[in-house]
Amino acid sequence: MEGKGLLIILSGPSGVGKGTVREAVMKETDLDLSYSISMTTRPPRPGERDGREYYFVDDKTFNKNIKEGNFLEWCEFVGHRYGTPKDKLEEMRNNGENVFLEIEVTGAAQVLEKVKKDPKVLSIFLMPPSEQALEDRIRSRKYESEEAIKARLDKGIKEMEAASSYDYVVLNDYVDRASREIIHIIKNALKENENSY
Ligand code: 5GP
Repeated sequence: MEGKGLLIILSGPSGVGKGTVREAVMKETDLDLSYSISMTTRPPRPGERDGREYYFVDDKTFNKNIKEGNFLEWCEFVGHRYGTPKDKLEEMRNNGENVFLEIEVTGAAQVLEKVKKDPKVLSIFLMPPSEQALEDRIRSRKYESEEAIKARLDKGIKEMEAASSYDYVVLNDYVDRASREIIHIIKNALKENENSY
């Protein structure tokens, strides 16, 4: 699992805004991060493209990947499954690429357990400013049913307890501010990684 490149894990409760912050961080060209594209059984949303946001697959393909041990971690989340392809991630890190992983909390816990002895891992937990803010964000996703919204919210509230097992906790009060803080944290970690050779 260990590679030359840094593995950066961004997680946090459902609805905290990981996706938006991830986009802002990935746009920071100075960092030159490689994004780990997950596989999912969820159908694409308008504007999403296969191989860019996710690899969109059917249940059969996802099962096959589980069976063949192709995932570093995978989870079931509100009726769909998501997994991190292992080989691709290892290949990128071995090439010296710094890989950015944006995943939900249970999957991140699996990864953190596996990479315990790997010094080149940086974990960041994105925290919502309040439970109400989390609910407002989840509700703003109009394409989801009330049931899915409630499930995301319940899960999100429970997931905040995981924050203490991360290297950094960043408050997502404003996307710009939180993204800048994360970029700063990553820059420092990259410098340290370079200096360790
Ligand atoms: P969405 O359906 O909104 O794109 O993603 C739902 C949740 O799944 C988000 O919290 C996202 O971070 C998480 N997620 C995306 N890819 C993966 C993955 O490969 N593994 C895990 N565990 N979570 C993922």
